[in-house]
Amino acid sequence: MILTNARVLTFDRANRVLANACVEIGADGTIGAINPEAPPDPAETVDAAGRLLMPALINCHTHLYSTLARGLALPGRPPKTFPQILRKLWWRVDSALNEEDVYYSALAGLIDSAKSGVGTLLDHHSSPNACGGILDRIEQAFREVGLRGALCYETTGRNGARKAMDGIRENVRFIERCRRGDGLIGASFGLHAAFTLSDSLLRRAAEANRSLHSCFHIHLAEHACDRGAVSRLAAAGILDERTLAAHCLHLGKRDIARLTRYGVNAIHNPQSNCNNAVGTAGLPALMRAGVAVGLGSDGYSPRMWDEFKTAAHLQKLRARDPRVGLAEAYAAAFLNNRAIVEKIWGVRIGRIETGAQADLILVDYFPPTPLSPDNLAAHLLYGISNAPVDSLIVNGRFVVHNRQCVTVDERAVAEKAAQQTRSLWRRIETSCPP
Ligand SMILES: [Zn+2]
Repeated sequence: MILTNARVLTFDRANRVLANACVEIGADGTIGAINPEAPPDPAETVDAAGRLLMPALINCHTHLYSTLARGLALPGRPPKTFPQILRKLWWRVDSALNEEDVYYSALAGLIDSAKSGVGTLLDHHSSPNACGGILDRIEQAFREVGLRGALCYETTGRNGARKAMDGIRENVRFIERCRRGDGLIGASFGLHAAFTLSDSLLRRAAEANRSLHSCFHIHLAEHACDRGAVSRLAAAGILDERTLAAHCLHLGKRDIARLTRYGVNAIHNPQSNCNNAVGTAGLPALMRAGVAVGLGSDGYSPRMWDEFKTAAHLQKLRARDPRVGLAEAYAAAFLNNRAIVEKIWGVRIGRIETGAQADLILVDYFPPTPLSPDNLAAHLLYGISNAPVDSLIVNGRFVVHNRQCVTVDERAVAEKAAQQTRSLWRRIETSCPP
């Protein structure tokens, strides 16, 4: 297939912006020639009609299982603190999930993600009463929608020793299964957060992962209740240059220096942090210290455009300085996310270059002002992020075309997910005290 008549944001080394270009997409799912010399065969072309062609977006930390909790209001007083939010809402939701809930929450969340231009998600899953084999059901949803993802199961001690071991086993099983992977589905080793994992459980996880060499995916310093986590994780052997540490808010200078020394990747989730009122990560300080900061949604929203915008705006407000924020948010969303995916998984996405994976979006963006490498970040913040995503291609295959998901029947999934939600919410409500 050759996409013709596209304005291309390459995100290559020179960050070129190409007017009216053709991009070849090979049958193997990689990008072929850009502006191929031979005239394209009309039978194999797709006319981009002057739309913007750019790499698909990446979500480096999410929880697809939260999709069916949207709008859920539990009886009693609303939780005030982050630990109360976990106890009252999220730990009730994950305990109530059955296998079908997990499957439909993943399908519905992936469709929403695809329609907003996200091609790759690093998912962090928890369903303590539907654990063994559950990552296969999430994989099934990824394959049906056609998105790329790395999956893990949230190991935690909060549900007792037996379920903690179930979590470790599910990670090990899925990591081994993904060894024969095809680059579309990968694995990481999921841990909840140090404040629900004892030192001995952390060591058991590190031991289980020793021969697998997978990367750990964990929440870190999301709230003051997780203080002291960095030194505990370091002592247990959890931290290295492939560790994904979501949040990284409540850190002292020594903690940040440790993260730098170990090369840990901090995943910033700005909208979730606002929603839970847990604080804001200091991106300039983390980046100056040499920490690789990526961007995720923490399951708050499927739209990485909104995470990018919120990241930029929050940093401006935090610093009380309008010069701050855009460069950091741009680096996290468009440079660091792709570097993190390549580092943990070996998959080259996030650029339009010959040989990279063809994960691309077409955006209905026809700006009234000049667009060049020099002002690209500003166009992303003030314009492209507001424009509709017309198409998403993952691994060379259309997932969304003309703003419709073309791989699955969206309406049928929505109806089945809504049915599933009614039963899930009843089960959650009966778990609440009168
Ligand atoms: Zn999270």
